[in-house]
Amino acid sequence: MAGDIGINERAIILPEAGAAEHGSALLSLEQTHGRSMHHYGPRVVIAEVPEREEEADSLSPFEFTGDGKADLPTAPAGVDAVGQLGLAAFGLRQSSALAAAKAKRPHAEEDWDAKGATPPCTAEAQTEVGEMGLAEALSGSSTSSRLTGSVAVGIIIVEGPTAKLKFSAAERTKVIAEVQNGLGWLGSKSGPGGISWVYDIRIITLSVSPSSNDTTLAQKENRWRNPAMAQLGYPAGMAGVQQYVNNLRLSKKTNWAYCAYFTKYPLGHFAYASIGGPRMVMAYDNDGWGPDNIDRVFAHETGHIFGAPDEYKASNCNCGGQWGHYERPNTNCEACAPGGGVACIMKGNSWEMCEHTPFHLGFVQERKYSGVFRQGAGGHAVWADASWTKFQQKWSEFSGQGLRLRDLKIAGTGSAARYSGVFQQGTGGYGLWVNATWTSFLQK
Ligand SMILES: [Zn+2]
Repeated sequence: MAGDIGINERAIILPEAGAAEHGSALLSLEQTHGRSMHHYGPRVVIAEVPEREEEADSLSPFEFTGDGKADLPTAPAGVDAVGQLGLAAFGLRQSSALAAAKAKRPHAEEDWDAKGATPPCTAEAQTEVGEMGLAEALSGSSTSSRLTGSVAVGIIIVEGPTAKLKFSAAERTKVIAEVQNGLGWLGSKSGPGGISWVYDIRIITLSVSPSSNDTTLAQKENRWRNPAMAQLGYPAGMAGVQQYVNNLRLSKKTNWAYCAYFTKYPLGHFAYASIGGPRMVMAYDNDGWGPDNIDRVFAHETGHIFGAPDEYKASNCNCGGQWGHYERPNTNCEACAPGGGVACIMKGNSWEMCEHTPFHLGFVQERKYSGVFRQGAGGHAVWADASWTKFQQKWSEFSGQGLRLRDLKIAGTGSAARYSGVFQQGTGGYGLWVNATWTSFLQK
């Protein structure tokens, strides 16, 4: 397990495009792996794989467990800088040091407005965002109207001229690993197939110094963000940010896109995002939550990017409103939900999601899943008309009882419908094939 998100992951290093094995490596990836989770450059993929017996024997020459980083090549030939960062991040997530850190997160499982902690995204920060042009930011929501399919994520680490404003190589890897953990978890909450995250990673070094004249959140952000965007070839202001995000979506060929800045420059607040996109900002120290909680704060802020509201009391939430793609009320708001609501990433520092947030995020909801489970001796069970989440739970339960999924039907509609199937392998092992188009499904 990489990180602490309960997902069985592998790093895949694809051969160079054009190489004889490239096609077969992709085919092997498709046949044996549930789904790709993260893409770093053209050759590095982090994938979720079903747990299998005799794990070592089932590894293809292109996949790596990263356990203890032992089998991960540190600088594989021909893999670009973004790919190498993705691999290093995966290695860090597989390390015992990271597991130990995750086991003692500061303020673990507490609400974001817990005593002694400062919540991400305060009302003050949102007002300041307003000064900068909230309307403009909201009008850019077409790049993140709902969380489905594939998403391009621009990670821009902005460093300054002094030692205090620079990131070490280890800190850069930490940022990428935390984002990998946070988005890996968030994407896994959306079925079928989860979310595929495609990264652009930029490291910018500026000569500009912080100024004590900057008092508002917008002034502080503009101090470093405008020159950083100039280095990337974009105009100042949110228009330049939106332009970068638009280009990201085009060049990565994804459904959606947004960007996130990490910096040690002074900020008006340690973490904030424009609701509806296109950008979030995070301080590396992550205030009292610390770098080991960047993953959960990042997942929370990404929730805002895709239209989800805060659910902790200090955000002044209420149980009404029309939020996100499905325009649902904020029913789990702590101020008015029975018992203060349930645990949720939009409410507190935990790997939990309430039943309302999937609607705010716009996760695909309409499809129903049916499956037939069979045992070698002829026993079988049918589980029909379930949501993907419930279906996965039932699948896992049946698997524990020795039942293997043999058939899967999806009641989907339209040309965009996708099909999932499970294919039995050898003696009891099984592989999941999800998120396929009908054409590629038939080829299986
Ligand atoms: Zn928030």
